[in-house]
Amino acid sequence: MDLLENCKLTPYWWDDVPRPVVVDNPLPAQVDVAVIGAGYTGLHAALQTARGGRSTLVLDAEEAGWGCSTRNGGQVSTSIKPSFEQLARRHGAERAGEILREGQRSLAWMGEFVRSEGIACDFHQVGRFHAAHNAAQYAALAARLANQPKGLEIPAHMVPRAEQHGELGSDAYWGGAVYTQHCSVHPARYHQGLLERALAAGAQVQGRCPVAGIECQGDKFLLSTPRGQVLARDVVVATNGYTGKATPWLQRRVIPIGSYMIATEPLPDGLMDRLMPRNRIVSDTRKVVYYYRASPDRRRILFGGRVSHQETNNRVSGPLLHADMVNVFPQLRDVKISHSWSGFVAYTFDELMHVGKHEGMHYAMGYCGAGVGTSSYFGMRVGQQVLGLAEGRTALDGLAFQTRPFYTGNPWFLAPSVRYYRWRDQRPV
Ligand SMILES: Cc1cc2nc3c(=O)[nH]c(=O)nc-3n(C[C@H](O)[C@H](O)[C@H](O)COP(=O)(O)OP(=O)(O)OC[C@H]3O[C@@H](n4cnc5c(N)ncnc54)[C@H](O)[C@@H]3O)c2cc1C
Repeated sequence: MDLLENCKLTPYWWDDVPRPVVVDNPLPAQVDVAVIGAGYTGLHAALQTARGGRSTLVLDAEEAGWGCSTRNGGQVSTSIKPSFEQLARRHGAERAGEILREGQRSLAWMGEFVRSEGIACDFHQVGRFHAAHNAAQYAALAARLANQPKGLEIPAHMVPRAEQHGELGSDAYWGGAVYTQHCSVHPARYHQGLLERALAAGAQVQGRCPVAGIECQGDKFLLSTPRGQVLARDVVVATNGYTGKATPWLQRRVIPIGSYMIATEPLPDGLMDRLMPRNRIVSDTRKVVYYYRASPDRRRILFGGRVSHQETNNRVSGPLLHADMVNVFPQLRDVKISHSWSGFVAYTFDELMHVGKHEGMHYAMGYCGAGVGTSSYFGMRVGQQVLGLAEGRTALDGLAFQTRPFYTGNPWFLAPSVRYYRWRDQRPV
């Protein structure tokens, strides 16, 4: 079977929300706020500053939303990777609690934003089934839920292996945990709604306009692009996994990692009800994680993960992901792929997102592959910081943003790390 016959190498979401047509408007000579990157982070910052009365220009190297913000799996969670214990060791118990609370707030805030703005983007609180890939991980998940830090408890319950089919039509796991507050969204519809609101608020959004350099000019910044220069009083860098040479200090602090996805062709009638009876979003306890869900119309499986040690292309990643998906759902062996795509997420050395100011420029990035809610929330907070509002403060502000000696933005260590983690994930316990 040719799995890729009729397969598009673009995100499934782009079928519903075609890429915006880029119109080359003349760039203003001067603005109050220049935002670099038109994903969720950049547009949420811009929405705040434009609504706050600041002239705001958003520049993207490609079309608005071209990065992760229209490519992701649409799984919305609390998104702070380190545990309370890990954070408490590094930053003290109080700060650890505040950081975890920001993650919880981001999830609730995003739901409220979508509702209050009336954005039609299939946002639903479906809950997550986090599947244990071995018995030890099931026990570890159960222990974590039983010992949640006081005051930071989140609603969740364990589902033993014997009851797993009530959550997932698969025998590949050892049971798992259900996090009832986690949500699903159509990422490109969400981005489109956000873009429309930023434009309506008066922000100017210019695609195909990469920022090549930034110079300090007195208390302002001069941004150079192939389409001319712009002087800005404030700059927000919102480039996440695509952070490049224009901001070398930030480039040294984020690790771009490819994340890969496929969509299946429409499934036979009734099959989805057996595979995903509760319509949860799903992830597993592997370090090299798989994440998947039903499409909003429940006709396809959207399956994502990391397929190879080195980065690869979507013709190669599609069949590899299909094989991984069939390990979970053998029922899908003969179902072809309709879309295969990928994007670059940004990891950080401490597995936390970072929000702050460097040399006078604001930034928010490093969501470690789980940034739908947090990029929205921290983008909004950065916009408030530009406006000088006290509510813009976050628990992440001013945390040391680490790099490593000789690291310049090319993660040479990625392939051996993925190889090691894959080996560890497959180890019998
Ligand atoms: C395949 C995949 C699946 C994912 N699934 C999930 C998921 O299910 N749940 C979840 O929470 N997260 C997920 N993520 C991560 C999530 O999508 C991101 O964390 C989030 O979208 C980051 O938004 P952002 O605005 O910061 O960055 P992006 O949306 O990546 O936007 C950055 C933009 O900056 C632009 N840019 C870069 N350099 C310049 C420059 N010099 N000048 C101008 N513009 C520039 C880029 O063109 C890009 O459009 C996934 C990511 C991928 C790739």
